[in-house]
Amino acid sequence: MSAVKTLTCVVCPAGCRIEATVGENGEILSVTGNGCPRGRAYAVSELTHPVRTLTTTVRLTGAAACRLPVKTDKPIPRESLFEAMRLARAFTAAAPVRRGDVLVHDFIEEGTNLVACKSEDPI
Ligand code: SF4
Repeated sequence: MSAVKTLTCVVCPAGCRIEATVGENGEILSVTGNGCPRGRAYAVSELTHPVRTLTTTVRLTGAAACRLPVKTDKPIPRESLFEAMRLARAFTAAAPVRRGDVLVHDFIEEGTNLVACKSEDPI
């Protein structure tokens, strides 16, 4: 038995309302309502392997600020977000830091890094 899932595409500001028919084994049978092919790819990804870019802050030492905004440089599986937050909470960065610096290589997944979103000079 199939089910119809409704999603709002967040790939661009148009925010198309997409309806996807999902088969009983999780296969995508049809996608409608997408204004362009990117919407179909978004719907298939969301319904089969949802991913998110983690954005958060980590502790920072040696700078005027005590927190540093960071993000993953690639989206990670949504089911890994909780573990990623736990690892980020346990991590401390040290000034100086430049925006784009890789703070943790292979964070959560091989080839995905935790990077600084802001520069902080030492005090
Ligand atoms: S389906 Fe295409 S046009 Fe519609 S919101 Fe997604 S990216 Fe934008």
